[in-house]
Amino acid sequence: MIKDTFNRVHDYLRISLTDNCNLRCFYCMPEEDYHFTPASRLMQVDEIEAIARIFVSEGIKKIRLTGGEPLVRKDARTIIERLSTLPVALTMTTNGTRLHEFADTLEAANIRSLNISLDTLQSDKFHLLTRRNQFDLIMNNIRLMMSRGFNVKVNVVVMKGINETEINDFIAWTKDEPVHVRFIEFMPFSGNHWKSDKVFTWHEILEKISSSYAPEPLTGDLHDTAKKYQIPGHKGTFAVISTMSAPFCNGCNRIRLTADGKIKNCLFSSDETDLLTPFRNGEQILPLIHQNILSKKKELGGQFTADFSHLHAEEIANRSMITIGG
Ligand code: SF4
Repeated sequence: MIKDTFNRVHDYLRISLTDNCNLRCFYCMPEEDYHFTPASRLMQVDEIEAIARIFVSEGIKKIRLTGGEPLVRKDARTIIERLSTLPVALTMTTNGTRLHEFADTLEAANIRSLNISLDTLQSDKFHLLTRRNQFDLIMNNIRLMMSRGFNVKVNVVVMKGINETEINDFIAWTKDEPVHVRFIEFMPFSGNHWKSDKVFTWHEILEKISSSYAPEPLTGDLHDTAKKYQIPGHKGTFAVISTMSAPFCNGCNRIRLTADGKIKNCLFSSDETDLLTPFRNGEQILPLIHQNILSKKKELGGQFTADFSHLHAEEIANRSMITIGG
Protein backbone atom coordinates (compact mmCIF):
# COMPACT_ATOMS: atom_id res chain seq x y z
CA MET A 1 0.00 0.00 0.00
CA ILE A 2 1.28 3.47 -0.85
CA LYS A 3 0.52 5.92 1.95
CA ASP A 4 1.72 9.44 2.71
CA THR A 5 2.36 10.99 6.13
CA PHE A 6 -1.23 12.29 6.22
CA ASN A 7 -2.54 8.71 6.04
CA ARG A 8 -3.79 9.18 2.50
CA VAL A 9 -3.77 5.91 0.58
CA HIS A 10 -2.62 6.43 -3.01
CA ASP A 11 -4.32 4.00 -5.38
CA TYR A 12 -4.71 6.09 -8.53
CA LEU A 13 -1.84 6.47 -11.00
CA ARG A 14 -1.85 8.91 -13.90
CA ILE A 15 0.69 7.98 -16.55
CA SER A 16 1.65 10.56 -19.16
CA LEU A 17 2.60 8.81 -22.41
CA THR A 18 4.09 11.83 -24.15
CA ASP A 19 4.45 15.60 -23.93
CA ASN A 20 3.61 15.76 -27.64
CA CYS A 21 0.26 17.08 -28.81
CA ASN A 22 -1.42 17.95 -32.09
CA LEU A 23 -3.13 21.03 -30.59
CA ARG A 24 -1.46 24.18 -29.22
CA CYS A 25 -3.65 25.35 -26.32
CA PHE A 26 -1.94 28.45 -24.91
CA TYR A 27 -2.53 27.55 -21.25
CA CYS A 28 -1.04 24.09 -21.69
CA MET A 29 1.85 24.39 -24.14
CA PRO A 30 4.14 27.33 -23.36
CA GLU A 31 5.12 28.28 -26.93
CA GLU A 32 4.46 27.31 -30.52
CA ASP A 33 8.12 26.23 -30.97
CA TYR A 34 8.12 24.08 -27.83
CA HIS A 35 10.55 21.16 -28.23
CA PHE A 36 9.00 17.81 -27.48
CA THR A 37 10.98 15.30 -25.45
CA PRO A 38 12.91 12.94 -27.78
CA ALA A 39 11.47 9.44 -27.95
CA SER A 40 14.60 7.84 -26.42
CA ARG A 41 14.04 9.82 -23.19
CA LEU A 42 10.44 8.65 -22.89
CA MET A 43 9.45 5.46 -21.14
CA GLN A 44 9.24 2.69 -23.72
CA VAL A 45 6.35 0.23 -23.94
CA ASP A 46 8.03 -2.50 -21.87
CA GLU A 47 9.13 0.06 -19.30
CA ILE A 48 5.65 1.54 -18.96
CA GLU A 49 4.16 -1.90 -18.46
CA ALA A 50 6.81 -3.05 -15.98
CA ILE A 51 6.71 0.16 -13.92
CA ALA A 52 2.89 0.10 -13.94
CA ARG A 53 2.99 -3.49 -12.66
CA ILE A 54 5.17 -2.40 -9.74
CA PHE A 55 2.63 0.28 -8.83
CA VAL A 56 -0.24 -2.21 -9.18
CA SER A 57 1.55 -4.65 -6.85
CA GLU A 58 1.48 -1.82 -4.28
CA GLY A 59 -2.29 -1.32 -4.49
CA ILE A 60 -2.91 0.95 -7.48
CA LYS A 61 -6.51 0.32 -8.60
CA LYS A 62 -6.97 2.87 -11.33
CA ILE A 63 -4.68 4.06 -14.12
CA ARG A 64 -5.38 7.07 -16.31
CA LEU A 65 -3.35 7.64 -19.47
CA THR A 66 -2.64 11.29 -20.20
CA GLY A 67 -0.32 13.40 -22.34
CA GLY A 68 0.24 15.86 -24.00
CA GLU A 69 -2.12 13.92 -26.16
CA PRO A 70 -1.70 10.20 -25.42
CA LEU A 71 -3.10 9.08 -28.78
CA VAL A 72 -0.45 10.88 -30.87
CA ARG A 73 2.14 8.45 -29.58
CA LYS A 74 2.95 5.96 -32.38
CA ASP A 75 2.81 2.94 -30.07
CA ALA A 76 -0.27 4.14 -28.14
CA ARG A 77 -2.27 1.14 -29.31
CA THR A 78 0.29 -1.35 -27.97
CA ILE A 79 0.57 0.50 -24.66
CA ILE A 80 -3.21 0.46 -24.22
CA GLU A 81 -3.37 -3.24 -25.05
CA ARG A 82 -0.57 -4.07 -22.61
CA LEU A 83 -2.02 -2.05 -19.73
CA SER A 84 -5.46 -3.52 -20.31
CA THR A 85 -4.12 -6.82 -18.97
CA LEU A 86 -3.57 -5.26 -15.52
CA PRO A 87 -6.23 -5.64 -12.81
CA VAL A 88 -7.09 -1.92 -12.76
CA ALA A 89 -9.76 0.43 -14.07
CA LEU A 90 -8.05 1.85 -17.15
CA THR A 91 -9.08 5.25 -18.42
CA MET A 92 -7.77 8.16 -20.47
CA THR A 93 -7.75 11.94 -20.87
CA THR A 94 -7.60 12.99 -24.52
CA ASN A 95 -8.20 15.99 -26.75
CA GLY A 96 -10.52 13.81 -28.81
CA THR A 97 -8.90 14.32 -32.21
CA ARG A 98 -7.96 10.67 -32.75
CA LEU A 99 -10.82 8.85 -31.05
CA HIS A 100 -12.38 7.69 -34.32
CA GLU A 101 -9.14 5.78 -35.04
CA PHE A 102 -8.95 4.28 -31.55
CA ALA A 103 -12.58 3.49 -30.65
CA ASP A 104 -12.18 -0.26 -31.25
CA THR A 105 -8.90 -0.44 -29.33
CA LEU A 106 -10.36 1.43 -26.36
CA GLU A 107 -13.43 -0.78 -26.34
CA ALA A 108 -11.32 -3.95 -26.53
CA ALA A 109 -9.18 -2.64 -23.65
CA ASN A 110 -12.36 -2.29 -21.58
CA ILE A 111 -11.92 1.46 -21.25
CA ARG A 112 -15.43 2.67 -20.50
CA SER A 113 -14.88 6.25 -19.43
CA LEU A 114 -13.05 9.08 -21.23
CA ASN A 115 -12.22 12.63 -20.27
CA ILE A 116 -12.17 14.82 -23.37
CA SER A 117 -10.84 18.39 -23.21
CA LEU A 118 -12.96 21.01 -24.96
CA ASP A 119 -12.97 24.61 -23.74
CA THR A 120 -15.45 26.15 -26.14
CA LEU A 121 -18.48 25.23 -28.22
CA GLN A 122 -17.60 27.86 -30.82
CA SER A 123 -15.57 26.68 -33.79
CA ASP A 124 -13.78 30.02 -34.37
CA LYS A 125 -12.89 30.41 -30.69
CA PHE A 126 -11.61 26.83 -30.65
CA HIS A 127 -9.23 27.77 -33.45
CA LEU A 128 -8.00 30.80 -31.50
CA LEU A 129 -7.48 28.79 -28.29
CA THR A 130 -5.82 25.75 -29.83
CA ARG A 131 -4.34 27.25 -33.00
CA ARG A 132 -5.75 24.28 -34.87
CA ASN A 133 -8.97 23.78 -36.84
CA GLN A 134 -10.29 20.53 -35.33
CA PHE A 135 -13.53 21.56 -33.66
CA ASP A 136 -15.93 19.61 -35.87
CA LEU A 137 -13.76 16.51 -35.72
CA ILE A 138 -13.75 16.57 -31.91
CA MET A 139 -17.50 17.17 -31.64
CA ASN A 140 -18.12 14.27 -34.01
CA ASN A 141 -15.81 12.07 -31.98
CA ILE A 142 -17.52 13.00 -28.71
CA ARG A 143 -20.84 11.97 -30.23
CA LEU A 144 -19.28 8.82 -31.68
CA MET A 145 -17.96 7.72 -28.28
CA MET A 146 -21.26 8.46 -26.55
CA SER A 147 -23.14 6.48 -29.22
CA ARG A 148 -20.80 3.56 -28.52
CA GLY A 149 -21.74 3.68 -24.85
CA PHE A 150 -18.63 5.35 -23.41
CA ASN A 151 -19.11 7.54 -20.35
CA VAL A 152 -17.87 10.87 -21.73
CA LYS A 153 -16.73 13.68 -19.45
CA VAL A 154 -15.91 16.95 -21.18
CA ASN A 155 -13.24 18.99 -19.38
CA VAL A 156 -13.69 22.76 -19.74
CA VAL A 157 -10.99 25.02 -18.30
CA VAL A 158 -12.93 28.18 -17.45
CA MET A 159 -10.97 31.39 -17.99
CA LYS A 160 -12.47 34.78 -17.22
CA GLY A 161 -12.77 36.89 -20.35
CA ILE A 162 -12.36 33.86 -22.61
CA ASN A 163 -15.11 31.30 -22.15
CA GLU A 164 -17.08 31.98 -18.96
CA THR A 165 -19.89 33.36 -21.14
CA GLU A 166 -20.34 29.87 -22.59
CA ILE A 167 -21.00 28.09 -19.29
CA ASN A 168 -24.75 27.94 -19.85
CA ASP A 169 -24.23 26.78 -23.45
CA PHE A 170 -22.40 23.77 -22.02
CA ILE A 171 -25.25 23.26 -19.52
CA ALA A 172 -27.76 23.37 -22.40
CA TRP A 173 -25.75 20.58 -24.06
CA THR A 174 -26.42 18.31 -21.06
CA LYS A 175 -30.19 18.56 -21.66
CA ASP A 176 -30.60 16.02 -24.44
CA GLU A 177 -27.23 14.26 -24.48
CA PRO A 178 -25.71 12.12 -21.70
CA VAL A 179 -22.58 14.24 -21.55
CA HIS A 180 -20.88 15.05 -18.25
CA VAL A 181 -19.39 18.54 -18.37
CA ARG A 182 -16.66 19.37 -15.85
CA PHE A 183 -15.79 23.01 -15.35
CA ILE A 184 -12.19 23.34 -14.16
CA GLU A 185 -10.88 26.44 -12.41
CA PHE A 186 -7.91 27.92 -14.28
CA MET A 187 -4.67 26.83 -12.55
CA PRO A 188 -1.13 28.25 -12.67
CA PHE A 189 1.57 26.27 -14.50
CA SER A 190 4.89 27.26 -15.95
CA GLY A 191 4.41 29.61 -18.91
CA ASN A 192 0.60 29.44 -19.09
CA HIS A 193 -0.23 33.17 -18.68
CA TRP A 194 -2.17 32.48 -15.46
CA LYS A 195 -3.33 35.49 -13.47
CA SER A 196 -5.49 35.40 -10.37
CA ASP A 197 -8.12 37.63 -11.99
CA LYS A 198 -8.59 35.12 -14.81
CA VAL A 199 -9.87 32.46 -12.39
CA PHE A 200 -13.64 32.04 -12.58
CA THR A 201 -14.39 30.31 -9.30
CA TRP A 202 -16.71 27.47 -8.33
CA HIS A 203 -19.11 29.98 -6.72
CA GLU A 204 -19.07 32.23 -9.77
CA ILE A 205 -19.73 29.24 -12.03
CA LEU A 206 -22.67 28.12 -9.86
CA GLU A 207 -24.02 31.64 -9.71
CA LYS A 208 -23.99 31.90 -13.49
CA ILE A 209 -25.72 28.54 -13.91
CA SER A 210 -28.27 29.34 -11.21
CA SER A 211 -29.33 32.46 -13.08
CA SER A 212 -30.89 30.18 -15.74
CA TYR A 213 -31.23 26.74 -14.12
CA ALA A 214 -31.87 25.12 -10.74
CA PRO A 215 -28.89 22.76 -10.27
CA GLU A 216 -29.15 20.02 -7.67
CA PRO A 217 -26.03 18.57 -6.00
CA LEU A 218 -25.26 14.88 -6.54
CA THR A 219 -23.50 12.79 -3.91
CA GLY A 220 -19.81 12.16 -4.39
CA ASP A 221 -17.11 10.21 -2.60
CA LEU A 222 -13.93 11.04 -0.67
CA HIS A 223 -11.59 10.94 -3.65
CA ASP A 224 -13.75 13.03 -5.98
CA THR A 225 -12.03 16.02 -7.49
CA ALA A 226 -15.33 17.26 -8.86
CA LYS A 227 -18.38 18.65 -7.09
CA LYS A 228 -21.21 17.14 -9.11
CA TYR A 229 -24.62 18.55 -10.02
CA GLN A 230 -27.52 17.85 -12.31
CA ILE A 231 -30.25 20.01 -13.74
CA PRO A 232 -33.52 18.13 -13.12
CA GLY A 233 -34.70 16.55 -16.36
CA HIS A 234 -31.31 16.78 -18.09
CA LYS A 235 -29.73 13.58 -19.43
CA GLY A 236 -26.20 14.71 -18.63
CA THR A 237 -24.64 16.23 -15.53
CA PHE A 238 -22.09 18.89 -14.70
CA ALA A 239 -19.39 19.28 -12.10
CA VAL A 240 -16.90 21.85 -10.91
CA ILE A 241 -13.25 21.14 -10.15
CA SER A 242 -12.44 23.86 -7.63
CA THR A 243 -8.69 23.33 -7.23
CA MET A 244 -8.05 27.04 -6.70
CA SER A 245 -10.95 28.29 -4.57
CA ALA A 246 -11.76 25.11 -2.62
CA PRO A 247 -8.97 22.51 -2.90
CA PHE A 248 -9.88 18.90 -2.24
CA CYS A 249 -6.44 17.67 -1.17
CA ASN A 250 -7.72 15.94 1.99
CA GLY A 251 -8.91 12.99 -0.06
CA CYS A 252 -6.08 13.00 -2.59
CA ASN A 253 -5.16 9.52 -3.83
CA ARG A 254 -3.28 10.57 -6.99
CA ILE A 255 0.26 9.88 -8.16
CA ARG A 256 1.57 11.20 -11.46
CA LEU A 257 4.21 9.58 -13.64
CA THR A 258 5.60 11.86 -16.33
CA ALA A 259 6.37 10.58 -19.83
CA ASP A 260 10.09 10.70 -19.03
CA GLY A 261 9.56 8.47 -16.02
CA LYS A 262 9.52 10.90 -13.09
CA ILE A 263 7.08 10.55 -10.25
CA LYS A 264 5.24 13.66 -9.05
CA ASN A 265 3.26 13.31 -5.84
CA CYS A 266 1.11 16.37 -6.53
CA LEU A 267 -0.01 18.38 -9.53
CA PHE A 268 1.86 21.30 -7.95
CA SER A 269 4.85 19.50 -6.44
CA SER A 270 8.16 21.20 -7.16
CA ASP A 271 10.10 18.00 -6.48
CA GLU A 272 10.01 14.86 -8.57
CA THR A 273 11.81 11.54 -8.36
CA ASP A 274 13.36 9.91 -11.39
CA LEU A 275 12.20 6.29 -11.63
CA LEU A 276 13.22 5.59 -15.21
CA THR A 277 17.00 5.96 -14.84
CA PRO A 278 17.27 3.65 -11.81
CA PHE A 279 14.84 1.24 -13.49
CA ARG A 280 17.08 1.16 -16.57
CA ASN A 281 20.06 0.57 -14.29
CA GLY A 282 18.36 -2.47 -12.79
CA GLU A 283 17.82 -0.83 -9.40
CA GLN A 284 14.78 -1.30 -7.15
CA ILE A 285 12.33 1.57 -7.66
CA LEU A 286 9.77 0.64 -5.01
CA PRO A 287 11.69 2.38 -2.18
CA LEU A 288 11.91 5.49 -4.37
CA ILE A 289 8.15 5.46 -4.91
CA HIS A 290 7.47 5.23 -1.17
CA GLN A 291 10.03 7.92 -0.33
CA ASN A 292 8.52 10.26 -2.87
CA ILE A 293 4.98 9.81 -1.54
CA LEU A 294 6.18 10.21 2.05
CA SER A 295 7.46 13.66 1.09
CA LYS A 296 4.04 14.74 -0.25
CA LYS A 297 2.83 18.04 1.15
CA LYS A 298 -0.61 18.41 2.73
CA GLU A 299 -2.09 20.70 0.12
CA LEU A 300 -1.32 22.16 -3.33
CA GLY A 301 2.27 20.95 -3.33
CA GLY A 302 2.94 23.25 -0.36
CA GLN A 303 3.28 26.10 -2.85
CA PHE A 304 0.16 28.19 -2.23
CA THR A 305 -3.23 28.24 -0.50
CA ALA A 306 -6.85 28.68 -1.52
CA ASP A 307 -6.38 32.42 -0.98
CA PHE A 308 -4.81 32.89 -4.41
CA SER A 309 -5.72 36.51 -5.00
CA HIS A 310 -2.13 37.71 -4.48
CA LEU A 311 -0.48 34.70 -6.09
CA HIS A 312 1.86 35.23 -9.05
CA ALA A 313 2.32 32.27 -11.38
CA GLU A 314 6.09 32.77 -11.55
CA GLU A 315 6.34 32.13 -7.77
CA ILE A 316 5.38 28.51 -8.35
CA ALA A 317 8.11 26.03 -9.27
CA ASN A 318 6.55 23.48 -11.58
CA ARG A 319 6.51 22.02 -15.05
CA SER A 320 4.26 23.24 -17.83
CA MET A 321 0.89 21.52 -18.06
CA ILE A 322 1.85 19.61 -21.21
CA THR A 323 4.71 17.87 -19.41
CA ILE A 324 2.58 16.91 -16.39
CA GLY A 325 -0.53 15.54 -18.04
CA GLY A 326 -3.12 17.39 -15.94
S1 SF4 B 1 -3.37 19.77 -5.57
FE1 SF4 B 1 -2.00 18.02 -5.17
S2 SF4 B 1 -2.62 17.22 -3.17
FE2 SF4 B 1 -4.26 18.58 -3.89
S3 SF4 B 1 -5.68 17.18 -4.90
FE3 SF4 B 1 -4.31 17.98 -6.51
S4 SF4 B 1 -2.65 16.46 -6.64
FE4 SF4 B 1 -3.73 16.08 -4.74
